[in-house]
Amino acid sequence: MLATSGALRRHAHRAAGRTVDRCPGTLAAGDAGAASPRTLGRRTFLVGASATALAVALIAVMPGEARARTPFRGVDVRPRAEWARGLGPTGPLQQERPGDTRFLLVHHTASSNDYDPDDVPGLLRGFYRFHTGPDRRWPDVAYNFFVDRYGTVWEGRSGSLAGPVMADATGGSQGFAQLCCFIGNHQVEAPTPEAQRSMTALLAALADTHAIETAPGATTTFVSRGSNRWPRGTTVTTTTIAGHRDMSLTTCPGDAAYELVREVFPAAVTALRPTPP
Ligand SMILES: [Zn+2]
Repeated sequence: MLATSGALRRHAHRAAGRTVDRCPGTLAAGDAGAASPRTLGRRTFLVGASATALAVALIAVMPGEARARTPFRGVDVRPRAEWARGLGPTGPLQQERPGDTRFLLVHHTASSNDYDPDDVPGLLRGFYRFHTGPDRRWPDVAYNFFVDRYGTVWEGRSGSLAGPVMADATGGSQGFAQLCCFIGNHQVEAPTPEAQRSMTALLAALADTHAIETAPGATTTFVSRGSNRWPRGTTVTTTTIAGHRDMSLTTCPGDAAYELVREVFPAAVTALRPTPP
């Protein structure tokens, strides 16, 4: 029932004369066989909703919609409580300081594209176990948000709906980004249209929240806190919507998703955002 180290694939690739790893937060096996929570208790929802209300502007929600999903600037995000079954952080989580969320980073899990909607909570628990276990020893699941192939958006790292929690899985933590991860392997196969639409909406919501310019070609500059591509102290200029490979020596988010990051998402995200007066 539990994913084991032997069930995880951690392949390194040789490219351009140097070793590049898969996204260090990725694995190929979750625990999709585990039962999924079918219902969300009222108390669970209230905890998630009150946390959200602390830091993000809520949109108007019809009463009938409020039970199951938490609104996040126009995006329905399934709160962590819907998959975590009480699994919490194993260590302290840091918040980005105001103004320090400067760009948005797209990942993929490099796991199978073949799963049912009911499998997703179990997959997320599998990622959590891998990230907090002996292979990675991070204090929580690495990414702030996940997007599944059916277009459902999930809160990942604890507290991400309430504010910009620092993430992991960037070859270190060069910081200054929120991490949004497709559940699937997008080296060859592109994310589904549903997943692309939801990722676009999620990126737009985060860009609104953190006042990030997203028009094609928009860049930001920061001093790296350290990754395996950008050593600590390096001044890095990046597009404000970027792929994990822009920050680390990795193939993540896969060639097919990275093409979207470069060629599609900046204009699509910007089109969803309010036009400045
Ligand atoms: Zn990645």
